[in-house]
Amino acid sequence: MSQPRPTLVIRGGRPLGGLVTDISIENGVIAAVGADVAGEGVEVVDARGLIVLPGLVDLHTHLREPGREDAETVETGTWAAARGGFTAVHAMANTDPVADTAGVVEQVWRLGREAGYCDVAPVGAVTVGLGGERLAELGAMADSAARVRVFSDDGVCVSDAVLMRRALEYVKAFDGVVAQHAQEPRLTEGAQMNEGELSGVLGMQGWPAVAEEAIIARDAMLAAHVDSRLHVCHVSTAGSVEILRWAKSKGWDVTAEVTPHHLLLTDQAAATYDPVYKVNPPLRTAADVDAVRAGLADGTIDAVATDHAPHPVEDKECEWAAAAFGMLGLETALSVVQHTMVDTGLLDWAGVADRMSVRPARIGRLGEHGRPLRAGEPATLVLYDPSASRVVQAQDSVSLSRNTPYAGMTLPGRVVATFLRGCCTTAVETVPA
Ligand SMILES: [Zn+2]
Repeated sequence: MSQPRPTLVIRGGRPLGGLVTDISIENGVIAAVGADVAGEGVEVVDARGLIVLPGLVDLHTHLREPGREDAETVETGTWAAARGGFTAVHAMANTDPVADTAGVVEQVWRLGREAGYCDVAPVGAVTVGLGGERLAELGAMADSAARVRVFSDDGVCVSDAVLMRRALEYVKAFDGVVAQHAQEPRLTEGAQMNEGELSGVLGMQGWPAVAEEAIIARDAMLAAHVDSRLHVCHVSTAGSVEILRWAKSKGWDVTAEVTPHHLLLTDQAAATYDPVYKVNPPLRTAADVDAVRAGLADGTIDAVATDHAPHPVEDKECEWAAAAFGMLGLETALSVVQHTMVDTGLLDWAGVADRMSVRPARIGRLGEHGRPLRAGEPATLVLYDPSASRVVQAQDSVSLSRNTPYAGMTLPGRVVATFLRGCCTTAVETVPA
């Protein structure tokens, strides 16, 4: 990684896909935005044809460290994040040991600082050891150096309504949010894929939409009842979008995310029996894909979050029933969003900035991220070429894992450079002015 340059000019880019302009960066801050801002002796990045977006913020990343450093480390995961245009990621708590104490969240936060690729905001577990029995030290994690604001037992659902209520009440003291992995456990025992026509044909145990929707409805009502903040992880069904629309119409403080894979892929992929498509919640029907796209377009779903879930080959390249749930997502997220939302006319680039940077930063209370691209703001941004295209190759990833569901697919766009407070966290070419 490079040190901050005294002055760098990004020339000829289009902030949020708007008019062509220049952006100058001094000491990690945007110094000016406008035509011909270049001065003497500066370095220039040629950004003609590129879109400039605020650095992306992921609310849902599995970095696997501590405990599964064979799958990913904080360093490799955040490197993948930077290459995907992310400048901040929320690291999920289902590590080993679980991030349920100030000690573990501080360790993850510190590893993120040392790696330097992007800001790592550790997510704290809601319950001790993700056990679903008693609340973890939420206050201690909030007060720690990691300043945890997002709490989640992701991987498992906080299914006990009393515990969920207590967590929602508790986090109010420090403006936190509970991010729920909405999965009614009894309705999904042994589930392998979406419950529907195809699960019957393939003879696999189904994961019914109602198992997600019932928890979202319950938790939205609980959050309203105690006047707290709920965030819903990886929304995957049309019914979930309807429930969220209803909850928001009531004025309740409920937000939600959708993953790139739920915007693009359907349960038909399970017919290949290739475990690279095994994920939780499962890939749903084409009608569900249409509904989550529409929900993201109209803002019912606030954010795209990757649920980047690296797994070593031995946990993925095996029989479907034995394989781990999850897929990679950081390095392909923006391309999948361009393909499913921008190229389809559902969202413009300002909308992409809102759903992938502004709103997730606000939900996670990351005040330095998701900022407007104007003078005085941190130079935390991404340069993206929407006219590029590539065939995704698993071996091109810098993740330690290879479980991308897009291998062999042609996806549009390419992240050209990512800047975190003026530091380029990817390779970038500059020329003297
Ligand atoms: Zn989850």
